[in-house]
Amino acid sequence: MFRHRERYGSSARCCPMTMRVVFLAAICLCAVFSFATESTLPKISCNENRVAAGRLDSGVLTLPGACAAQSTPAAETVRGIEIVLLGTHGGPYLNQDRSESSSLLIVDGRPYLIDCGIGSMRRMVRAGIRSERVGTIFITHLHPDHDLDLANVMANDLLNLQRTADALQTFNIYGPPQTKELVDAAFAYISIPFGAFAAEARNADMLARNPFAAHEIRSDGLVYQDDKIRVIAAKNSHYALMPAKFRERMKSYSYRFETPHGVVVFTGDTGVSDAVTQVAKNADVLISVAIDLDAMDKSLHEAGIKNHWSSERLNGMMAHMKDEILDEKEVGELASKAQVKSVVLYHLGPDGVQPAVFVSGVKKYYPGPVFAGADLDRYCLSDKAQMLSPCH
Ligand SMILES: [Zn+2]
Repeated sequence: MFRHRERYGSSARCCPMTMRVVFLAAICLCAVFSFATESTLPKISCNENRVAAGRLDSGVLTLPGACAAQSTPAAETVRGIEIVLLGTHGGPYLNQDRSESSSLLIVDGRPYLIDCGIGSMRRMVRAGIRSERVGTIFITHLHPDHDLDLANVMANDLLNLQRTADALQTFNIYGPPQTKELVDAAFAYISIPFGAFAAEARNADMLARNPFAAHEIRSDGLVYQDDKIRVIAAKNSHYALMPAKFRERMKSYSYRFETPHGVVVFTGDTGVSDAVTQVAKNADVLISVAIDLDAMDKSLHEAGIKNHWSSERLNGMMAHMKDEILDEKEVGELASKAQVKSVVLYHLGPDGVQPAVFVSGVKKYYPGPVFAGADLDRYCLSDKAQMLSPCH
């Protein structure tokens, strides 16, 4: 069983969850993994200069066709995949036990961040992951429960850039159209409080360079690759009910991460979608949004009565839940159809539904292993067995 060697945080800051992450006793056998869809995808030759510098004036790269080379941190001595769930709540309303949507995919010790809803940065600290070592971020869509902590992550990066010798120098943020606007706005936002530091002699050059580069994904296909991962995006059905004129510039993506140790697919938020089924094909791990539709229906009707919602508003909310977010049955059908090897549920809703309910709901339609994730849960993928399980 692969065990992740936690090397991102000092032991003094470790939480109990982190403490139980043991040091790697033995390096797993390094199986050679053939990319499942390699032959069908275009090759991209990475040119680091295309994304280097990351200044505000560097512009937006139109994808596919762009890729980023990430410097190799010292921690990359561990082989295998680890998934850390930072936030598992189905937003956007906040919950005391679960942060908003955010996950880390760690490949051979290199962390990639997928979404950063409110609470992500705090959870990363708790998980012992240093954000200034996370050089690549993928945003599935720009709903607030998936990106509002980006400014916090960037602020932490900027702060530690100044004081930590091994901090990465450029941070690449991939997402749908408007991601550059979001990243630039976040940098402008953090520049105000950091401006006071910059004004002081000891931090005069703090804002001299913008280390954050945005990359907007405009179409499906291969959108990123480096020496650890290839990322394939698929536009999903989360915005299916949105008027067409807005869908021109607002897109919601699912991402397939192909690694030497297996394939991990993040659905992001989506309803039933052939594109998602396709992009999830034969994945080792499907990390999927899930709602309990009956409980959601009850919860929305109660909220509607209590808050005097119009029937139009209530019907709109229910249509969104039914058509644009997967329920347990639909997750199970997706997992079976795509023949994935395991399922992890996150972005769970509504509040109050027990995790076991989500799991049993999916299992009626899918025979493989299903986990309902909680914040800070870690899952490992063994090279040997190619079967996901909670990390020990
Ligand atoms: Zn969401």
